Amino acid sequence: MDKFELQKLRDLPIEGVAERLGLQVTRHKALCPFHDDAHPSLSFRVSRNTFRCFVCGASGGTIDLVMKCLGKGFREACRWLQTLPSAPPCREGNGYSCNGIYSSPYREGSGVGLFDASRYERYFERPWLNDEARRFLFDERRIDARVVRWCRLTSWKDKQQVPWLQTPYYDRDGKLIGIQNRNLVKGATPRFRFPQGAECSIYNLPILNMLRPGDDLYITEGSSDCWAMLSAGHKAIAIPSATLLSKKDKELLVSLGQELGTSFHMWPDNDVPGERLFLQLKEVLPSLVHHQLPPDCKDFSEYFLKR
Ligand SMILES: [Zn+2]
Repeated sequence: MDKFELQKLRDLPIEGVAERLGLQVTRHKALCPFHDDAHPSLSFRVSRNTFRCFVCGASGGTIDLVMKCLGKGFREACRWLQTLPSAPPCREGNGYSCNGIYSSPYREGSGVGLFDASRYERYFERPWLNDEARRFLFDERRIDARVVRWCRLTSWKDKQQVPWLQTPYYDRDGKLIGIQNRNLVKGATPRFRFPQGAECSIYNLPILNMLRPGDDLYITEGSSDCWAMLSAGHKAIAIPSATLLSKKDKELLVSLGQELGTSFHMWPDNDVPGERLFLQLKEVLPSLVHHQLPPDCKDFSEYFLKR
């Protein structure tokens, strides 16, 4: 194998390779397969395309990971990497390591896996909703048009004429940090897709700048409940799941409570995961207020429609 071939294998996105090996990667971390690990201590450095375990010290690049995980020699590991299909699987829902729908995940050179906001920003400068998106937002969910504008929701159709709703994720300063694409065809899979490197942690962070001292902040699960909550006139953010909240995100929420006296509210989904999320969040935010949905509503979006 020549130098270029080898470099190509080294440049395969390390998190994609890890997932192919059966590791579950969440927020650039995974349970370390090289020691008995209860908390994810294997972390991935996307900018360098490497992994490292802070407990057992295992470290290296894509080829090392395959050698160690599968107990293969160097040549065999390279051969295994060569047989990978040209795109790793796209996981539904979270999107921390998903390849994009616009670009090949195997970009040249360094910076593999970094979200390139400049490529997508223009989509949200002039949001435009196609018929499918209008039906989804306004007819089916009765989302307030002001909320749609605030969230800069836009839509597009791919080459196969599949309609997608695009939800931009911004940080607190309004910088684009991620995009969620929702397939608007009913029952289609995958339902969500994310461009490479997109960070979809807390949704609707810019609303935090509008919080006044003592304001209520509603925490929802997922962006669509967040739109319903905003349409109901509440200030709201969405989180993907409590276990996916980074330390930084948790600190941000805690500091809001301390500095602004923000009180946190939640209408957990009417199921076990919903209650679990509430309890996990309550550990971070002890003052979190529980609101009970009526038994015939599975989530706040449904409650909002019936109200
Ligand atoms: Zn380890």
